[in-house]
Amino acid sequence: MSKPHVLIVEDEPDIADLIRFHCDREGMEAEVIGAGKPAVESIRKTPPDVVILDLMLPDVGGIEICRRLKQWPETREIPVVMVTAKGEESDVVTGLEIGADDYVVKPFSPRVLMARVRAVLRRRAELQEIPVDNRLERIDGRLVIDPDRHVITIDTKPTDLTVTEFGILNHLAQRPGFVRTRDQIIAAVHGRNVVLSSRTIDVHVTALRKKLGSLAGCVETVRGIGYRFCAPPEEVG
Ligand code: CA
Repeated sequence: MSKPHVLIVEDEPDIADLIRFHCDREGMEAEVIGAGKPAVESIRKTPPDVVILDLMLPDVGGIEICRRLKQWPETREIPVVMVTAKGEESDVVTGLEIGADDYVVKPFSPRVLMARVRAVLRRRAELQEIPVDNRLERIDGRLVIDPDRHVITIDTKPTDLTVTEFGILNHLAQRPGFVRTRDQIIAAVHGRNVVLSSRTIDVHVTALRKKLGSLAGCVETVRGIGYRFCAPPEEVG
């Protein structure tokens, strides 16, 4: 791991310097920003490995900053360690509920703070090391469905699908050969906030087949029931 990049969001210079001193000593790259708005901008532009976040800031409060960071997919995974004053217990609870990872209470021992920071960095590194591969390969690898990236590849060529098309294909391909009714497909795809009627499923399937090209036959219509995924018949020639 290269030097971890720590962003210290703290408006009291003495405390900021103290934290920065200890980060340096631990071999971390520390940067200080003294207000909420510029901190949020900086985090979005250059995501740090961990944020040490004071809750009482001159402009945007730490809780609000944390809430924003945990809402955006690109910043959601960044660990946040809150620094709070005595009497801010309800803020601590709110912060932890919206996704902050840990906290220290002022006046804090720098060694305790650094132990917390190291712990969240370690947990994050462990999470990143676990290879998560939910990809689904079908038809001898000619079709690969990657639900994490929302991408499919047909004969190694990435192909764009709409959210609904992707949902339908992914649902059917989970259980090749199993017939799914239109209602079952709708229920499976609904999780992605898509409103569908059974008639529109047919429209989406038509569009999906077009995009599947030579693999169009793998989404088979089962008359009077629904659809199923199957390997298309061998091409002749
Ligand atoms: Ca403060």
